[in-house]
This record gives sequence, structure tokens and C-alpha cells, in this order.
Amino acid sequence: MTPLPPGSTIGILGGGQLGRMLALAAAELGYRCHIYTPEHDSPASHVAAATTIAAYEDETALTGFATSVDIVTYEFENVPAATAALLAGLTLVAPSATVLGVAQDRVREKDFVAALPGSVPPYRAVASLAELEAAVAEIGAPAILKTRRMGYDGKGQARLKTAADCAEAWAALRGVPAILEGFVPFEREVSVLVVRGWNGDMAHYGPVENSHDDGILSVSRVPATVSPAVTEQAVALARRIAGALDYVGVLGVEMFVVGDTVLFNEMAPRVHNSGHWTTEGAVVSQFENHIRAICGLPLGCTDTVGRVEMRNLIGEDALRWHDLLSDPQARLHLYGKADARPGRKMGHVTYVQRD
Ligand code: AMP
Repeated sequence: MTPLPPGSTIGILGGGQLGRMLALAAAELGYRCHIYTPEHDSPASHVAAATTIAAYEDETALTGFATSVDIVTYEFENVPAATAALLAGLTLVAPSATVLGVAQDRVREKDFVAALPGSVPPYRAVASLAELEAAVAEIGAPAILKTRRMGYDGKGQARLKTAADCAEAWAALRGVPAILEGFVPFEREVSVLVVRGWNGDMAHYGPVENSHDDGILSVSRVPATVSPAVTEQAVALARRIAGALDYVGVLGVEMFVVGDTVLFNEMAPRVHNSGHWTTEGAVVSQFENHIRAICGLPLGCTDTVGRVEMRNLIGEDALRWHDLLSDPQARLHLYGKADARPGRKMGHVTYVQRD
């Protein structure tokens, strides 16, 4: 593709912190960003050149948005498929609406990866209590029932210790289409962030080692404490997925490590929380590389500059901003959210120990 020249406008669907950090990186390269979000006073809108506040189903607003930008990308992947299709008919969209369709659905993404082939935990699509009971009989317990769509940060999940928990788990998810996954007794969780350009050039960050609290990412560290064999498998799987999807932009791939084996968990068709450390800890950040990739610019170097730790500031953690800054090595990022509700990602802090 012909590179989009600086001065062009990038449309971003979603107004959260990922959009905010994308818009900041885009501004450094001389681009303008136009945010599309249903939310008032969104973190991304504070740093963008323009914002449209409208529903993802508002065709008039979407058409106006599409005609005012040179390309559209996402910071939030759970937009309706019809929204992505409408935009794709009017302007360039990256990653593509097809990729979005795969990544929005936990069954489709696992089918896709399993067919590559890539290792995935045992899983079954379930659409009724009877199907759930049959799936538990096949896969065994313990297991995890997850909604096929719209799940994030451990939401929309129910754990089954034994087959006797089926009815309770099915009721907890309120009968929406779901996926049952065998419980993986993992030693670690890692992610690899791949960036891929229109011409197929690829680079990656990671593996990153991630710890979660209550299903929400708490800490990311690089380098991950994994064997060279695990690193090779994790990177190869993530790159294979990006290539097979003909992906453009940054793709986050989350995996479980069991012994010397890597199992796919899920992918996010956007910049990823486990890559926030790249702003200070890599030569070129995931945010800048996403912008470079979608705009058809050469990809930047993804090398790390040392040992890095990123801590998410959840809810009231962010009220400690003054204390956190008393460590001169701390790089603090706050997302401009007014209300520090429990479980809400308010900011993050990064520590880099240079090589
Ligand atoms: P997810 O939203 O699918 O990434 O799930 C949130 C968290 O739940 C993961 O980061 C894991 O810690 C845990 N989890 C999800 N799926 C499984 C699984 N099949 N086996 C064990 N733990 C899981």
C-alpha cells in the first residue's frame, strides 16, 4: 500500500486507554486521530484531534466518521460485525473486518488456531445445558465455561470443579452461547505481541510473562522466565497466527505454558495491555508500531532495552500517584479516568532496568 503521509487522519474505534496511547504515538509521527466512541469524556478523546460520540450502530454517524478519516483501526474489538463491514465499504480498515469476526468469538478463534495447526486446550462449543453436560462428559473436569463473545478481564466465566457444577455454571452465564475449555494447570501465562505490515513484514515483542489478579492483568515482565524452547514455540505460534490471518497492525496472543509446551488461550486484534511496557522498555513501542503498520510505514525495532516490569494500577491503586512518583525510576501513566472504581484500569507504571 502507498504509505499514508503524516498529516493524514487515523480513525480509532473506541475511546479507552489503548486509543489514548495510540493517539499519542500517532501524534508523534505527525498524524491526527479521530476517536469514535459512545462514551462521553473518554480517555482517548482527551488527546485526540476530533471525537465523534455516537453508538456503534449509528449508520449516519459512522458514515460521517468514515468519510472524515484516511484509515480506521480499533482499540476496542467488540464492535458489531455490521459496523466493521459498513466502515470497510467506505474506507481502509485495519485489521480487517474478517479478522475481527474471528477474534470476537472464542470458538472461532480456537477453531482457527487449531487448524493452523496450533496447540489449544480441549474445548467444545455449547449452546444449552444438555450440550454443556455432554461437553463435560467428553472433556472432563475441572473446566471453565466462558461466553463466546464479549468476555474480557475474566468476565463472563464460570469454573466447574466437577460435572455436578453444570447447572450452576450454565445459569451463571445466563444461557448465552458459550465455550467449555479444559482447565489448564499452567505454570505461567505469557503473551507475544506481533506487529505485521501490509507487505507481510513482521516483528514481535515477548514472550512477556503475565500475572493476573481476579482475572485482570496485574503485572507483566520481560524477559519471561521460560526456556528457549518455550520462547521459540510461543513466538512461532503468534507469528503463524498473524500470517494466516493476513493481519495488519499489532496482534496480542495470550498463551499458557505447561512444562515445555505452549497452549493458545486467546488473541486480541489490537494493541495489548501486556505490551504497555514497550513505551519505555522497547526501542519502538507497540503503539507506534501499530500506527506504522496500518499506515504502511517501515516497522520499528522491537528490541527491549533492559529488564522491564509493568504494573497495572487498578481502581484505587491509582490514587497512590504521588508515592509512585517518589521513585525517580518509575514511569507513570494515568488514563484520565475520573472515577477510580474497583476493577477499573486507571493507569500503569513501568520500571526499566537498563542493560
Ligand atoms: P481469558 O479471559 O480467557 O484470558 O481468561 C482470564 C484468565 O483466566 C486467564 O488469564 C487465566 O488466568 C484463566 N484461565 C482462562 N482460561 C483458562 C483455562 N482453560 N485453564 C486455566 N486457566 C484459565
